Amino acid sequence: MQQYKTKQEKSTFYKSSAWQKLRLKALERDNHECIWCAEEGRVTTKHDAVLEVDHINEIEYHPELALDLDNLRTLCKACHNKRHNRFDGKEKKWDDEMW
Ligand SMILES: [Zn+2]
Repeated sequence: MQQYKTKQEKSTFYKSSAWQKLRLKALERDNHECIWCAEEGRVTTKHDAVLEVDHINEIEYHPELALDLDNLRTLCKACHNKRHNRFDGKEKKWDDEMW
């Protein structure tokens, strides 16, 4: 099984034509809209923001789901950043020190 642990491995993956094709499929399935914004009743398309395709289960830990359409979702850049901060262990640690 291909692993995606290093920056190099990830960047090779994100440049692959298999990913580029699947990414488009995910965008089409989600109507080229951020699904988190949609849940809040906002329509965010590529005209409003940069849309990114996110792996629900990250490829670093779930390489077998890297090319699984069900593991993908369309997020705008702002939501995508939110998602990754939310699970950032460092931020939690900082909170712990604060309290
Ligand atoms: Zn969004």
